[in-house]
Amino acid sequence: MNIAVFSTKSYDKEYFSKHNKNYNHTLTYFEAPLDTKTVSLTKEFDAVCVFVNDTIDAKTIAELAKNGVQIVALRCAGFNNVDLEAAEKHNITIVRVPAYSPHAVAEHAIALLFTLNRKTHKAYNRIRESNFSLEKLIGFDVYGKTVGIIGTGNIGRIFAEIIKGFGCRVLLYDIYPSEELQEKGFEYVSLEQLYKESDIISLHCPLTEDTKHIINAESFRTMKQGVVIINTSRGGLINSQDAIEALKTEKLGALGIDVYEQEEHLFFKDLSESIIQDDVIARLTTFPNVLITSHQGFFTQEALTEIAETTLSNIANFEKGEITNQVEF
Ligand code: NAD
Repeated sequence: MNIAVFSTKSYDKEYFSKHNKNYNHTLTYFEAPLDTKTVSLTKEFDAVCVFVNDTIDAKTIAELAKNGVQIVALRCAGFNNVDLEAAEKHNITIVRVPAYSPHAVAEHAIALLFTLNRKTHKAYNRIRESNFSLEKLIGFDVYGKTVGIIGTGNIGRIFAEIIKGFGCRVLLYDIYPSEELQEKGFEYVSLEQLYKESDIISLHCPLTEDTKHIINAESFRTMKQGVVIINTSRGGLINSQDAIEALKTEKLGALGIDVYEQEEHLFFKDLSESIIQDDVIARLTTFPNVLITSHQGFFTQEALTEIAETTLSNIANFEKGEITNQVEF
């Protein structure tokens, strides 16, 4: 198929071009994200391939349909940036990569937790400046701590297994508890109990109307003093302004985020010579106990291979009339 690939980075080009040898699609790469301003580029394409920060809203979908695009292939798992009702109305198929490497994201959540706790990022910089002092580098044993996990799908369950291996007490919350995890001895609790008892909370649920700002001023009030929160899921799960207030009162002991509510204006770009207009992220970066990565949880060789293979095969299957990995309306 004739595919317009949006938000292309060097690594997308490398992995998609390499794996396309098995599919022979025609790939045209655009660095710009797909949105109402760039949708005019999709004339004469059958398919568009997009990532987490492209905007596939009702207006964009109407234009895609007008331009003859039949399928939107998300090269990610989350689809909160797509207006599914509009897609249905315009008969545009939406496919995604449901699980490319859940290990990559779960391991990144662990990396955020351990970096924040043992401050290896600070030690690295200090030692490069011949500062061998241990002052202010004190951490805590993760062993024996209570870890709450919200969302126990592909990624959350791997995070649960890994953190259990560190000797933690693990509390799970999901609207659909997993029988398999319960058979393995994992304990599901209410959200209230998870907030009340957890020393560390890791978020692994999708962003939906129910989960938007699930971490907010009210939930902070019910949490332990000094709770550590890790979010590799979606930025909108946390009310960032409330997180700033909780950091100021030290209710929130540390925050590790790979995602941020307004990330589409920032992440994946080199803005080192720009004036950052987002005062919330600017404030967050001033806290010594906040660690932010730029949506790199998925970023492993294995995941990029799986993303390219699944996306290209989703489109090839659509061409043959067999829809795979469709996002249901
Ligand atoms: P998944 O669909 O396998 O699991 C999500 C789980 O969340 C399910 O078990 C579901 O029942 C649960 N859930 C849904 N609504 C809930 C609610 N209101 N409260 C509690 N639990 C709820 O998804 P996954 O593959 O594990 O991915 C989880 C999230 O990670 C994705 O939605 C995506 O936003 C994010 N993600 C981030 C990266 C990254 O690079 N940082 C990469 C991939 C995915």
